[in-house]
Amino acid sequence: MIVNGNNRHSDALLEMESVSVNFPVKRAYPFSKRQWIQAVTDVSLRVSMGETFGIVGESGCGKSTLANAMIGMIRPTSGTVRFQGDDLFSLNRQAFKAARRNMQMVFQDPFSSLNPRFTVYDIIREPLYIRGGVSESDMKGKVLELLNLVGLDEEDLQRYPSDFSGGQRQRIGIARAIILNPSFLVCDEPVSGLDVSVHAQILNLLMEIQQSLNLTYVFISHNLAVVKNICQHMHVMYLGKTMEAGAADSVFSNPLHPYTKALLSAILDIDVSRPRERVLLKGDTPSPIDPPSGCRFWQRCPFAMEGCKTIPAELVNVEPDHHVACHLISGFSSEQKAAGFAQPLSPQHGE
Ligand code: SF4
Repeated sequence: MIVNGNNRHSDALLEMESVSVNFPVKRAYPFSKRQWIQAVTDVSLRVSMGETFGIVGESGCGKSTLANAMIGMIRPTSGTVRFQGDDLFSLNRQAFKAARRNMQMVFQDPFSSLNPRFTVYDIIREPLYIRGGVSESDMKGKVLELLNLVGLDEEDLQRYPSDFSGGQRQRIGIARAIILNPSFLVCDEPVSGLDVSVHAQILNLLMEIQQSLNLTYVFISHNLAVVKNICQHMHVMYLGKTMEAGAADSVFSNPLHPYTKALLSAILDIDVSRPRERVLLKGDTPSPIDPPSGCRFWQRCPFAMEGCKTIPAELVNVEPDHHVACHLISGFSSEQKAAGFAQPLSPQHGE
């Protein structure tokens, strides 16, 4: 089931259907059993043209792996990725390269993603230079145009990344990401490596660029406050799986999954008249090599029941454009209840 709410096939730019990504773990001994990191499991989503689609979750929940599968950097173990209606991994080499040029990424760490030995000019023009077919003067004109768009000056062209602040380096990274005129941009935690004082500037810049160039964004973040402000749809991920998905307004106004509630309770709220109870999750995220059976969140969930340990929670539609994977919402059958699956676990169950 593809989720981001409405069944708007016509305006879908990117669709993922039942995508799973597993990575092999290096064997400790030559004949030991092969193990797999289950980075992403059975994720389906649809990103509409022109929207900003948020993916949130803690570190290690599979957000970045999912993003890399979206833009063809990682081939999923199973499932399909369709970009502009085409199955990305069934395209021939030439068509795949063309699609890849149409999808770009803004990285979290603007310093390590920029070559320290290249000048700003070399960094920004590099994708155009590799693609070829553009004269040096046209290339320079395009770089200057983008430099202006991201708020840097012509004098910056011959400087090096080390001459800039984190926020300025991210501007350079954004200019490089859009030089091939992509229609789809994945922003992988684009502000989390930056000083808090420049978060708003970079976010505003991304929003302005989206409007002026008519871009579609997937915005990956562990910061729900940011996602709340800029995204129209979102997925909340935990240990490689989608826990809650839908219109950002619905998820924020009516969070239903215990994990989403815990994440939301951690957002600083400036409205002191509405004190919010902080939900503290116990324990660490389990290993993706051997994720828990049943609901992946059961070991940390304060509402876990017997059945959550063994029965996977499927995403169910709870209201228009809002899906949740939780037995509290979908309920157990009368046979399962009779078998004791609805019995709450002890508060110490995950310890
Ligand atoms: Fe908690 Fe069970 Fe819901 Fe998972 S399915 S979130 S363990 S109540």
